[in-house]
Amino acid sequence: MATAVKSIELTKKEAPETGDYDIIVVGGGTAGSVAAIAAARAGLKCLLIEQFNSLGGSQTMALVTPTMSACVEGRSCACSISKEIVQRLLACDGAAKENPDWFDPQAMKIVLEEILLESGADVLFDSSLADAAKEGSRLTHAIVLGRSGLSAYKAKTFIDCSGDATLALASGVEIESGGPDGFNQAISLRFELSGVDIASFSSFLKSVGFKSCCEYPLLHAAYRHGFSDAFDELVSKGKNDGLLTDMDLSHFQIFSIPGRPGSVSFNSPELGKSENAIDPAFTSERQREAKRSISRIANFMRRRMPGFDKSRIGEIAPLLGVRESRRIVAERQLTKEDIYSFRKFEDGIVASNYPLDIHGGNQFEKTATYAKVPKSEAYWEIPYRALVPKGADNLLVAGRCAGFDFFAQSAARVQHSCRAMGQAAGIAAAIAAKEAIPFREVDGKTVRKTMRSLGSDI
Ligand SMILES: Cc1cc2nc3c(=O)[nH]c(=O)nc-3n(C[C@H](O)[C@H](O)[C@H](O)COP(=O)(O)OP(=O)(O)OC[C@H]3O[C@@H](n4cnc5c(N)ncnc54)[C@H](O)[C@@H]3O)c2cc1C
Repeated sequence: MATAVKSIELTKKEAPETGDYDIIVVGGGTAGSVAAIAAARAGLKCLLIEQFNSLGGSQTMALVTPTMSACVEGRSCACSISKEIVQRLLACDGAAKENPDWFDPQAMKIVLEEILLESGADVLFDSSLADAAKEGSRLTHAIVLGRSGLSAYKAKTFIDCSGDATLALASGVEIESGGPDGFNQAISLRFELSGVDIASFSSFLKSVGFKSCCEYPLLHAAYRHGFSDAFDELVSKGKNDGLLTDMDLSHFQIFSIPGRPGSVSFNSPELGKSENAIDPAFTSERQREAKRSISRIANFMRRRMPGFDKSRIGEIAPLLGVRESRRIVAERQLTKEDIYSFRKFEDGIVASNYPLDIHGGNQFEKTATYAKVPKSEAYWEIPYRALVPKGADNLLVAGRCAGFDFFAQSAARVQHSCRAMGQAAGIAAAIAAKEAIPFREVDGKTVRKTMRSLGSDI
């Protein structure tokens, strides 16, 4: 007979209790999939809760490809599970052998699920975290809304990989959002065109002066990125002729997709910024406008761009691309000063030199200069403590909503960093369980050492 658990704050309803896990990971995206794999491999009984029907989050459901490089000379900075993901993708032609950062989001869905199920973790799809229940300072249940109603999933510990810090918010820890002006980064709704003659497009790009990244499977073209004046002219003529608008061109970027030579992926349209990028009223209005923009861009490509005369809209991302929303206040917040000074930490669990990358405005500090260091030292690290929310005993937060200031988040949010944060969180959870200690007492140096011993490049 199920007992009833009283949910706090959000739902005020009673949810039947179900399951009993060592750890629950909320959000099966870039960080969450890896966190669940790492925790299950370390021996924890793990449940991963995901609102959609596939893993990958932004990488798959928001169609975000390729993975950005860590930009550290001579190093991948990949965590060991990230390396495994890449190997699996290569084995099924889901990534480009010339540079496996370029992957097919559909292949990624399959690969992540295979690795997750092999790890022994359980996954619950079609289920959204609605709330949390607590006893004192410890979270006890994730209150989840599925098609059949509310349920309360019980666990000893939790990792929030929702991207929006939804579990952290429900647990009552301190949350930040947006930059100094209060605005979040710009959102985007990505889409794909299919039926493309990529060889013709590639020949065209070369004919207008593109010198690199103009051939499948590593093709990349963008408006006003300084690759080709002739390409920019063709696109801006589309605007002058009334086929495209300023918004359509605010971020106009095209990538090929390995294994699918008839399709291309648009990192467009960019839809502007807001003081609450995940407010459904804002996202609904913007996504309605996005469909109109996608329709205009598709029409322009069909009519004007060589290789696209038979193209169709192949997919519109089922998940909105949110670059930045809520972030936790952590035991050690990573700041822009840490990035600019290439700070390293004893408990560093991610190494990267990806730059500050803020979409949607003028918040980037153009005058800021990075420290002068030898090339081999030109990287910064994320400390384990950035995953530990202040004031929580049994909650970690990994991925784009971990403990960063607005500026540092813009550098730390890329996929390779999110995967490494996920793996560190899974490893830390196993240490906390073994030593029966709260997450803030886990020795981050041991997490770093364990990641290295498993083959992570830290
Ligand atoms: C438009 C755009 C372009 C980008 N371009 C690049 C790029 O080219 N290369 C790169 O490396 N990075 C890029 N990024 C950044 C990167 O893709 C993301 O920051 C990163 O993937 C985030 O990973 P995450 O695990 O933190 O969140 P996500 O991958 O977004 O995962 C969050 C998961 O949680 C689930 N979820 C959310 N709320 C709930 C809930 N209440 N209950 C259950 N499940 C929930 C979501 O469905 C999702 O699966 C881009 C981001 C955007 C938005």
